[in-house]
Amino acid sequence: MNIGFIGLGNMGAPMAKNLAAAGHVVLGYDPAGITTEGVTAAASAEAAATGANVVITMLPNGKIAQTVADQVLPVMGKGTVLLDCSTIDVATARRIDSRAEDHGIGFLDAPVSGGVGGAEAGTLTFMVGGSAESFAEATPLFDIMGRTAVHCGGAGNGQSAKICNNMILGITMIGTCEAFALADKLGLDRQAMFDVVSTSSGYSWTMNAYCPAPGIGPQSPADNGYAPGFAADLMLKDLRLSQQAAQDVDADTPMGAAATELYKIFVEQEDGSGRDFSAMLPRFEGRTRS
Ligand code: NAD
Repeated sequence: MNIGFIGLGNMGAPMAKNLAAAGHVVLGYDPAGITTEGVTAAASAEAAATGANVVITMLPNGKIAQTVADQVLPVMGKGTVLLDCSTIDVATARRIDSRAEDHGIGFLDAPVSGGVGGAEAGTLTFMVGGSAESFAEATPLFDIMGRTAVHCGGAGNGQSAKICNNMILGITMIGTCEAFALADKLGLDRQAMFDVVSTSSGYSWTMNAYCPAPGIGPQSPADNGYAPGFAADLMLKDLRLSQQAAQDVDADTPMGAAATELYKIFVEQEDGSGRDFSAMLPRFEGRTRS
């Protein structure tokens, strides 16, 4: 396939590299001048998209994804597919879909889980919204960049799945961290706490697979000074998207709102920015109720 790849940042560059390594012809564009192995640099988003069967975007937010979609849709051929892998708001994803339809182009919103490590290893999970036809067209590319691609339904449903998943993740990480901090003050050994909770009804991915306590459970960012991993800043971004979506559809999400507020304070007023989202544990350790 001829692939245009726009946004060659931490995630986009290794994804584009894997597509090129698998034999696809990849034209890449990033305004920061980033290129990567096997990918030919294009002078603009439009140049990367011209003649492509599939255009992939991996961008910071919905506003930029909308701008880039408006640049590339007019130069893409009818029947081609625009595949946005960025994490953006549901409303923008649905708006891009309707503009793509006006141009006779298929659109998929396909945010990912798995982080930079998953992008490099080609083991990402894609949560995909859009038509079955476009999904089938993009499946060989998902197979190269990832291990799993779940078709979640119509446009916007990929973003919906992503923000619901990450809302659960943010809430459970906070719950796990505050429980560890409480256990510390109660004089409970952290290993004993892990051994009980990881095999009891309080178990979760944040406890069992990504334990926020250093030296406990499998290797995690806690064992590396809380270097991300998944940065608290990105967790805050995703929690904000969940609250924006909840507001749009009038859904009551009190725990999501509380998690958003805590990560906002942590990132914007404390030392959370640039640290892994599990660094909530040292935050709670140093605090009292007042
Ligand atoms: P990043 O900031 O490293 O990369 C984004 C790239 O987009 C940058 O290189 C930037 O120069 C480029 N860009 C900005 N404006 C542009 C424009 N107008 N046209 C073309 N390119 C433009 O971000 P990232 O970590 O690669 O994340 C990308 C997306 O993936 C985000 O939506 C993020 O939420 C999501 N995501 C990231 C992770 C992660 O662990 N990093 C995990 C899952 C999902």
